[in-house]
Amino acid sequence: MDRSSPAGKNDRRQFLFHMLKGTALLLLQGCSGLANRTLDYLPPHAYLPSRRAIETAAAVQTDLPKETCVTHEVAPMETVPRLAQMYGVTERELTEANRLKPGEALQPGQKLIIPHPARYKNIVPVYENDRWQYIVIHHTAGKTGKALLVDRIHRERGFDEGLGYHFLVDNGSLGKGDGQLEAAPRWIRQDEGAHCKASNMNVRSIGIGLVGNFNDQKPSAAQMNTLIQLVALLAIHYQIPACNVLGHCMVPGAKTDCPGHRFPWQRFQLSLQQVMPASSMLARSR
Ligand SMILES: [Zn+2]
Repeated sequence: MDRSSPAGKNDRRQFLFHMLKGTALLLLQGCSGLANRTLDYLPPHAYLPSRRAIETAAAVQTDLPKETCVTHEVAPMETVPRLAQMYGVTERELTEANRLKPGEALQPGQKLIIPHPARYKNIVPVYENDRWQYIVIHHTAGKTGKALLVDRIHRERGFDEGLGYHFLVDNGSLGKGDGQLEAAPRWIRQDEGAHCKASNMNVRSIGIGLVGNFNDQKPSAAQMNTLIQLVALLAIHYQIPACNVLGHCMVPGAKTDCPGHRFPWQRFQLSLQQVMPASSMLARSR
């Protein structure tokens, strides 16, 4: 529930703009099918011991200034093919600009030059897996963050596999974009999460973290835009009904206020209803 004071007109306009943009993009993907989904993308098998990526989809797209080079800090388990897709450059351009050997694994924290990126796209790899029945949304409760940092914090907290979420939505801090999506290693490996013990959610839910403390402030419009598109895409793909999309605090047995009192829950649910087809709002049939 959104307990904050009513948003200003500009906030609402900006939110609506992002929503419509997101809706249009999703509809575009839905209508044009293959044209907007890159079905040929397969992460290296070394990262996928038992699951096969069957498709990826572009979520948010941001035009980048031409004739520039971008420096990208590699997040855990990011790969050259995924980065090439994200920035609209070829794998060859990426390997040559950074003098990488063919097939060389990237190291978390490594800085890469992205030569003349065309645009930035959030890439969502999806896999065949009937484990995912819920989606649980969190805030990191910290003002700034990125996958590399949250991974370190979670390891220090005793999570041996690091970053406990499956996805992280950045807020524009620490060199990441506002609304940038980072797919975490647990998602790439299709492993269980470490984000919500209550109701056995670590095992059967997809955990999405948003950088920020939403007891202090609301998520940005760009973060909400990415979140809505991501949740809609995952819910449709894994046939997760809208009633199984929960904030951490809504999970039976969870004793937390995560994702914060100012997370605009009602508006989020409404937006989700608008982008998800009616059939996917029905109860899970399998
Ligand atoms: Zn949480």
